[in-house]
Amino acid sequence: TYLSLTGLNGLKWYRPLKLQHVLDLKARYPDAKLVVGNTEVGIETRLKSYHYPVLISVAHVPELNQLIINDEGLEIGAAVKLSELVKVLKTVLDQRPPFETSSCGAILQQIKWFAGTQIRNVASVGGNICTASPISDLNPLWMAAGAKFCISDCRGNVRTCMAEHFFLGYRKVDMASNEILLSVLLPWNRPNEFVKDFKQAHRRDDDIAIVNAGMRVHLEERDQKWMVADASIIFGGVAPLSLSASETKKFLIGKCWNKELLQGALKVLETDIPLKEDAPGGMVEFRKSLTLSFFFKFFLWVCHQMD
Ligand code: FAD
Repeated sequence: TYLSLTGLNGLKWYRPLKLQHVLDLKARYPDAKLVVGNTEVGIETRLKSYHYPVLISVAHVPELNQLIINDEGLEIGAAVKLSELVKVLKTVLDQRPPFETSSCGAILQQIKWFAGTQIRNVASVGGNICTASPISDLNPLWMAAGAKFCISDCRGNVRTCMAEHFFLGYRKVDMASNEILLSVLLPWNRPNEFVKDFKQAHRRDDDIAIVNAGMRVHLEERDQKWMVADASIIFGGVAPLSLSASETKKFLIGKCWNKELLQGALKVLETDIPLKEDAPGGMVEFRKSLTLSFFFKFFLWVCHQMD
């Protein structure tokens, strides 16, 4: 029922065409690696000499390639390629009320600076998420935007996990070996909810970030003041995993969106993102200053959106 090849070195390659077959294969080979664009797995096997005896290519599984617009948001199949996602995001931005698509706009902007065209044409949403790289360009945004990950075990039991709780450590995620990622639900935004992407790299095009971020704030008008009802400030490149600035979030909620909030938040942020002198990746002073300047830019950008 699916293409299967065995190489000379005993490597097994499966190319199922139905989700049920993927789940059956996962039940048979719990340690099998799923592959879509091979842009992470290929680096691991060719440059890091990892050996994966069983590979399951899920690039052609229709259930994992769906892009569905529903009342809650945009549902993105785990095997959807970034360049396919770009097309749908553009359509959604054209068709939906602007306030609903702040997260879509931020994801679209971030993909602009994600690798080059060749990689974006094959790299999948799920491949990026499941790799859980601490410098992933999109994971901070899924977290900030309140995205939900839909996960299935090999018996077909489905559960959801908030993106914010999915990343557990260095390339470690809340997913058992008998589970796979099915899709991502990117919720529509509420009025006065703003989401923004950030990435600083050495080069503008096709470069790994030094620090990146996803930020969201939901403002509510009370007594002619704009108060923070909810917020999420997530950084990449400052820890072994995409990191939520949780103290800064607590500080922001309930405060008025003004200059005092900006000054206070910058102070909290300084201690909230603990980058040690000898943190892997170096450039500690620069990275610290990037976290502050991203928030500064976010503050100004939100003010501009309110005009
Ligand atoms: P694959 O290599 O096919 O798979 C990656 C991992 O995800 C594997 O462990 C696989 O088992 C797992 N997986 C895939 N789908 C599922 C699923 N449905 N359920 C469970 N596990 C699954 N990343 C960035 O964030 N920003 C960049 O700018 C960037 N630039 C890059 C430039 C180059 C030149 C290269 C080679 C890589 C770059 N990357 C970048 C990293 C990479 O391209 C992305 O992480 C990409 O999205 C991975 O997708 P893929 O389909 O190729 O993953």
